[in-house]
Amino acid sequence: MEKRELIFLKPVFTHNVWGGNKLRTKFGFNVEGNDIGECWGIAAHPNGDAEVDGGVYGGMKLSELWNEHRELFGNAEGDRFPLLIKLIDAKDDLSIQVHPGNEYAAEHENGSLGKNECWYVLSAEPGSKLVVGHNAKTKEELDAMIDEGRFKELIREVPISKGDFIQIDSGTVHAIKGGIVLMETQQSSDITYRVYDYDRLWNGKKRELHIQKSKDVITVPAPDAGKMVLHEELSIEDVKGCDDKLLVKCPYYEVRRMFVNGTCTGGCGDDYVLMTVVDGEGTIDGHLVHKGSFFIIPSGYGTLTMTGKLNIIASRAF
Ligand code: ZN
Repeated sequence: MEKRELIFLKPVFTHNVWGGNKLRTKFGFNVEGNDIGECWGIAAHPNGDAEVDGGVYGGMKLSELWNEHRELFGNAEGDRFPLLIKLIDAKDDLSIQVHPGNEYAAEHENGSLGKNECWYVLSAEPGSKLVVGHNAKTKEELDAMIDEGRFKELIREVPISKGDFIQIDSGTVHAIKGGIVLMETQQSSDITYRVYDYDRLWNGKKRELHIQKSKDVITVPAPDAGKMVLHEELSIEDVKGCDDKLLVKCPYYEVRRMFVNGTCTGGCGDDYVLMTVVDGEGTIDGHLVHKGSFFIIPSGYGTLTMTGKLNIIASRAF
């Protein structure tokens, strides 16, 4: 069998009321506007389907590749590509929201997937915080606090900085706050229930809230947010060759942080792996890559050699 190729992808961008310009100014993407919220790097969703950049599959959409060349994905089962990899630039606070799990989404959202997601922080202005979890002890207390608009009392905030990582299970109240850029691995779903939007007006209107659905899916009580943040202990400068750390393993995905400093060789066996270069530059089997490169290592690819100084987030689907 001929050696399979790495599959590079051209991202899709979204413009959002809370977005900024760092995906252009800091990542060098050629996209206009000062409201660029998201870069969908590895995506095969109806609202954003990334195109293969060059190679034998060049020009195909990732959804087509998934449907027509399942061998590249280890003949995985499933009617849709399971994950979605994004960069997010929050200039302003995002609304406070929650996502349903698979079961609730299948029943109430036309068979959509639910959404677990996780965040690797790429940059954060000093004093940055994320909203993760809430303070209600019972369902009754949660409903009362939402109905009475006691959101300051309800939500929990955790301080975060560059290199921190956090898993957001479905049912977790959460929000990215302004001044943060992060990379997200999530289930391929865009079902979001907005709990509170700080009473802001956007173009003269408040955005729709989804109070009942939010109440239905929020987990009570919430786990301790402080314990959920994984801090980075290591600097890439301390690494010779490669350092690989497991960030999370949940029923839907596994996410690892890799530091390459010098040369590193390894393989992924039968798994296909979604690779996001979040910092640095170097080569992967001779392909030049840099901050903002997205590619898939297909199933059965074999050994891979990485060189340079690279911070990569590697995500696998289950
Ligand atoms: Zn979310």
